[in-house]
Amino acid sequence: MILKNRSEPDGLKILRSLNVRMNLTEEEKQYYLNQEKGYEGEKRFDELTKNLGNDLYFLNDLLLKTNNTHFQIDTLIISQSTIYLIEIKNYNGDYYYKSDNFYKMSNKDIEIQNPLQQLKRSKSLLLQFLRNLGYNVHIEPYLVFNNPEFTLYQAPLNEPIIFPTQVNRFIEKLDNTPSKLNAWHKKLAEQIISRHITESPYTLLPSYNYDQQQKGITCVTCHSFNVTVNAKKLVCDKCGNQEEIISAILRNVEEFKLLFPHRKITTSAIQDWCKVVPSKKLIWRVLKGNYKAIGFGKWMYYK
Ligand SMILES: [Zn+2]
Repeated sequence: MILKNRSEPDGLKILRSLNVRMNLTEEEKQYYLNQEKGYEGEKRFDELTKNLGNDLYFLNDLLLKTNNTHFQIDTLIISQSTIYLIEIKNYNGDYYYKSDNFYKMSNKDIEIQNPLQQLKRSKSLLLQFLRNLGYNVHIEPYLVFNNPEFTLYQAPLNEPIIFPTQVNRFIEKLDNTPSKLNAWHKKLAEQIISRHITESPYTLLPSYNYDQQQKGITCVTCHSFNVTVNAKKLVCDKCGNQEEIISAILRNVEEFKLLFPHRKITTSAIQDWCKVVPSKKLIWRVLKGNYKAIGFGKWMYYK
């Protein structure tokens, strides 16, 4: 049973827009792609676990704080006697493990941040966090690599790593280990969820401004700016996708809101942002029908 859902992080949505609308540096682009990949791996894990029949609570994507230190948990599973702390890594390609470090194999091997260290840190912080709440529970941490294209050479035998070829068996075991939850577990889960922090300090966004962004509506499927408005549809000249113009405008307004939370949503602002929509009246109708109008006349804006 999923008590806390995973949703697409705002930071990732912003990065995705910036990647389409401005020139990111190589480093920023790599950071964006890593975020995208990480999220994809987490969703892949969710897909595998969503239909388990066992009595378990799933708490996805938590950001918690203990003694002023933040820590992030990809998935926390509460069972009758154990709390499973799951760190998901969607690495692909060849890696090797040497003297407690991880390296990505390429022309020039690159040392990467040790995910086992990260898991150990999360475990100890979670332990503290739960102790502060008055719980003394058994925590089992696991590092799950769930990209089928991942290989780790010289993998250590005594670490809690689940490899792509073991993920299914790991989940089966979770499902088959007898578990019966009661009010105590429910309260524990609720206390954890109530302490979840929504504002993520983890996504490092590049600095950006309005003028830098390419204006226009992008195709919902292929993100191309090569679109035309035809009757009530937005038609993509690249992939041929068609979308109701109203839904395309709404999508662009939401993107505008997310990228520029301090800018006022007015008909003119949205027309400038959408660019391809010729009719100001249509934008006005979309805003009026879907947002709350604040103020009057030329000072009117929407929320
Ligand atoms: Zn397209």
